[in-house]
Amino acid sequence: MLIINNLHVSIENKKILKGIDLKINSGEIHVIMGPNGSGKSTLASVIAGKKEYNIIKGNIYFQNKNLLNFSPEERAHLGIFLSFQHPVEIPGISVINFIKTAINESRKARGLDKMPAKEILFKMKKKSVLLNIEKNFFYRSLNEGFSGGEKKRNEIFQMSMLDPLLSILDEVDSGLDIDALRIVSNGINTLKNNKNSILIITHYKRLLDYLFSDYIMHILYDGKIVKSGNKQLADKLEKKGYNWIINERKKIF
Ligand code: ADP
Ligand code: MG
Ligand code: MG
Repeated sequence: MLIINNLHVSIENKKILKGIDLKINSGEIHVIMGPNGSGKSTLASVIAGKKEYNIIKGNIYFQNKNLLNFSPEERAHLGIFLSFQHPVEIPGISVINFIKTAINESRKARGLDKMPAKEILFKMKKKSVLLNIEKNFFYRSLNEGFSGGEKKRNEIFQMSMLDPLLSILDEVDSGLDIDALRIVSNGINTLKNNKNSILIITHYKRLLDYLFSDYIMHILYDGKIVKSGNKQLADKLEKKGYNWIINERKKIF
C-alpha cells in the first residue's frame, strides 16, 4: 500500500524528518507514537501532500505510484485520507454538503458518475448510527462550534463515508472522553478490512486497547523511527516512558 524510503523533510530550513523508512501493507494497522515535536504530524502531512514542506531526499510510493508527483487533491482521490490533529472550521458548509462534494469529486476523478443524493443520505444514516451521531449534525456548519469530541467523531464519520484505502489518523483520540473514545475506536474497527490500511498517530495506548486487530507499532524520535515492534512495545512504552528509548540510544551513540 505505502512504501516510504529514506525520507528527509525540512520546513523553513529546519530538518524535521531525518530518514524515515516505513512499509505498510494492505490490511495492516500501523501505530506511531513519539514525544511532542518528533515529527509525527509532519510525516502525516507529507504523505497527504501539504505544500509547505520541502522533501530533501527520499520517496513515497502509494500502490506503486510515486506520490510526490501528485497534488493533495489527487492523493485524496487515490484513496488517502488524513484526519487532522486540529480539524478546521468551515462556516457556511454543512457536514452533509462537505461529504457529498468529497464523495463526488473523488468519483469524478475516477471516471465514475455522481452518487445519487438519496444513496449518500442512506449511507450517512447507516454510518451515523454506528458512530452515535444525531441527524441534525448533518446540517450543522463543518466543525463550527463542535466540541473537541464532536470534531474527532466527525473526522471518523467522514472517513467511514469515503472508504479510503489508507487512513491516517493524527491524534484522533486526543481530548476524548471514554464514550467518545469507544465510538471512535468502534468506527476504526468497522472500517478496517483486509484491503485497506490505517496509520494511527497517538500519545495514548487506551485507543489501541479497543482495537480488534493487531497492529505494528513504531516509535518516532527526533525525525527517525528508532524502534518498531508489536503490541508489547506499546505496553513497554507505557510502563517505561520515552526516557527508556532515549537512554538506549545514548548507549549506542
Ligand atoms: P509532532 O506531531 O510529533 O508533535 P510535528 O511534526 O508537529 O511534531 O513538529 C515537528 C517539528 O517541526 C517541531 O519542532 C515543530 O515546531 C516543527 N514544525 C512543524 N510545523 C512547522 C511549521 N509550519 N513551521 C515551522 N516549524 C514547524
Ligand atoms: Mg504534537
Ligand atoms: Mg502532531
